[in-house]
Amino acid sequence: MPSDIMRKRKVNLKSLLQETLGSDPVFRERFRAAKAVSPVEGYGLPLGSRSRRLSGQRWMLVGDAAFLIDPFTGEGIGNAIYSGGIAAKQAAECLRSGDFSAETMLAYDASIQRVLGAELRLSTKLQKLVRYPRLFNLLMKAGTRNKQLRDVISSMFYEVDLRKKLTKPSFYIKLLLNR
Ligand SMILES: Cc1cc2nc3c(=O)[nH]c(=O)nc-3n(C[C@H](O)[C@H](O)[C@H](O)COP(=O)(O)OP(=O)(O)OC[C@H]3O[C@@H](n4cnc5c(N)ncnc54)[C@H](O)[C@@H]3O)c2cc1C
Repeated sequence: MPSDIMRKRKVNLKSLLQETLGSDPVFRERFRAAKAVSPVEGYGLPLGSRSRRLSGQRWMLVGDAAFLIDPFTGEGIGNAIYSGGIAAKQAAECLRSGDFSAETMLAYDASIQRVLGAELRLSTKLQKLVRYPRLFNLLMKAGTRNKQLRDVISSMFYEVDLRKKLTKPSFYIKLLLNR
């Protein structure tokens, strides 16, 4: 759930965690003998929901520092590795030319956009879908009834082409018609 919605609905994730551990039959059993060894800490993930400047004179940001976590799946390891590779190539080019200017570094920002931009934009659209709980709940309810749809939803977390379907109205029309 996006953080602005959580704030609006006054959702306290720390209390929700304690409640779930105490009330959910599966979690209660799983954590029956567990002891808290430290207070619960939580931080927001640096999601790539909007594009930012990722470099300047003699510097580049990679991975979480560059806000490259996929807003739909919450995954950031892959993009951290991609951005590290792209930054390494840019650094090699700068060393070769002796040019570390902010202007030259813009090539790094452009490469990140070319490689990761489309996927991050698509995932941002999907993240916004959660703001329409009726639509989202409809999708999830239909998924619990229909194995084929359930498999499609699961695959969307790792297959970008399938994820694109979620942004198309025809997907929901077919869903309503149960096709
Ligand atoms: C609870 C949780 C679950 C997640 N699950 C997944 C998942 O299933 N799949 C997935 O793809 N992603 C997942 N992520 C996101 C993923 O962990 C990050 O996107 C990814 O690790 C980012 O890599 P990074 O190298 O940019 O940063 P990090 O992995 O955070 O690495 C940064 C490193 O720099 C070190 N450091 C910080 N400051 C300094 C300093 N001043 N000097 C020296 N070292 C310093 C830190 O100790 C750390 O080791 C999850 C994140 C969280 C919080």
